[in-house]
Amino acid sequence: MYSETVREQSRVAIVGAGLGGLSAAIHLRIRGFEVTIYEANDQVGGRAGQISAGGFTFDTGPTLLNYPWVFEGLFKAAGRKLSDYVELIPIDPSIRYYWPDGQTLALSASITTLVKEFERAEPGSGPGLFAFMADAAEKYRLSFDSLVARNFDHIWQWIGAATPLQWMKLGVWRSFDRELRRFFRARHILDALGSYAMYLGGSPHQLPGIFAMLPYGELAMGLWLPRGGIYGLIRAIENLARELGVRIETGRKVREIRIHSGAVDGLEFTDASEIRCPLIVSNVDVPTTQSTLLSGLSKSTRAPRMTPSVMTFYLGVRGKVAGGGHHMIFMPGDAEFGYRQLVRTGEIPRELPFYVSIASESDASLAPAGGSAVFILIPLPLSLMSSRVDWQALASELKCRVIERLRTHGIKLDPSDAAVELTLTPADWAARCGLFHGSAFGSAHTLFQMGYFRQPNRDRGVRGLYYVGASTVPGTGLPMVTLGGRMTAERIAADVH
Ligand SMILES: Cc1cc2nc3c(=O)[nH]c(=O)nc-3n(C[C@H](O)[C@H](O)[C@H](O)COP(=O)(O)OP(=O)(O)OC[C@H]3O[C@@H](n4cnc5c(N)ncnc54)[C@H](O)[C@@H]3O)c2cc1C
Repeated sequence: MYSETVREQSRVAIVGAGLGGLSAAIHLRIRGFEVTIYEANDQVGGRAGQISAGGFTFDTGPTLLNYPWVFEGLFKAAGRKLSDYVELIPIDPSIRYYWPDGQTLALSASITTLVKEFERAEPGSGPGLFAFMADAAEKYRLSFDSLVARNFDHIWQWIGAATPLQWMKLGVWRSFDRELRRFFRARHILDALGSYAMYLGGSPHQLPGIFAMLPYGELAMGLWLPRGGIYGLIRAIENLARELGVRIETGRKVREIRIHSGAVDGLEFTDASEIRCPLIVSNVDVPTTQSTLLSGLSKSTRAPRMTPSVMTFYLGVRGKVAGGGHHMIFMPGDAEFGYRQLVRTGEIPRELPFYVSIASESDASLAPAGGSAVFILIPLPLSLMSSRVDWQALASELKCRVIERLRTHGIKLDPSDAAVELTLTPADWAARCGLFHGSAFGSAHTLFQMGYFRQPNRDRGVRGLYYVGASTVPGTGLPMVTLGGRMTAERIAADVH
């Protein structure tokens, strides 16, 4: 009887095989739990999915991979080596930024290249760059050593994890933009380094200065492409999970997380089948879980502020895109106005910011010989999801604006050369991955949605219900949800044992 209870207490069902779900499964399995993942789609990876068409291979969502140590750590925790499963290719220069005035700026993990580039944009900025790197390195170290990847049970534990001086150094009371202005004056440098704010759901003027560590992380540790695209890494992680004995059932959409007497009881699927389980981890975006999968309880939780949605295009082009590179970000002339339109007033920015990736520039296997796998991402305001939008008309209008802007920079992308052309609208993203209001990156990282204040990974009202993924701790992005998987597993292990 006792051993039956113990066995029962070590069974975990995970809803969703996004990267956070896969990471949680691996860390739970390492701790001796029996783990089954139920995934609605036919493939794992969630937002980090893959589309193959006409010999072209596209990553659906994430295309920029940083902090490789996080993924090395995941494999190491299981006694394996990441490099035995997938090769990471360094991408340097990493991202090239373009402005309507013709200015460009390329980031690089090589400090000598970077100094030259910054000096070109802002003569005399070299010493400022070194000071920025030293300051942000300290923020990065403090954050990852003490704050980011740990579970906190109450606010004082979180506040006490750093000394008052360290909190000052982290720059939480200054804006991200003010933090950058301590080191740089040139608008193009400020715009480029501040652009990381978009996927955190704010403008660099709104978000806290601690996020200066984001551009630092990329500059210091580089930007990478797994061989075969980001999905090459997802597949490696899926293989690791299966090797460890994690069961993964795809095509299994959960309709409801069953609750009985204040505790989880099991799952009901859309085909009306059911399973019972005392421990459930939802990798479905937290506000979606709470508003659609829970039968009553926890629904009262206030929805968090979310990051913008996106429209993404996938073009399989015959031949090379003249003037193109692997990672290109196109900035508006007035970045602050663009952010305001996107996240405050809910309009499509008049001067569209967007991102273009041609991953086949770094891994030729992603396109047929001589071809180019082109990905375009346009951030859009969340408000579009609640208005009646003709997505098809909007998609063709936005694509024309992108092609025209590329033309002004001498980049020749002709859609009539495309053998393959696919689009995912915010509504498609919401339906495909269960994204709340179509928000691409989950809940925003404003000061009061960070750290202790972020939606915790253990439900406050339902026993046995846990979360993992972009909208819970520590936050969004491939490295963060991977770390989050460990944190959720640690939480469960501490509660059960
Ligand atoms: C377009 C785009 C570009 C991005 N670019 C980058 C980038 O370059 N670099 C980066 O680091 N991050 C990027 N991100 C963010 C990153 O993709 C996410 O933070 C991360 O992948 C989220 O993982 P997750 O664990 O939250 O799971 P998700 O990816 O949200 O997966 C959740 C899973 O749950 C499944 N599911 C949903 N409902 C159900 C149900 N009812 N039953 C069963 N299963 C269900 C879904 O099918 C999905 O597989 C990007 C995101 C998007 C959308």
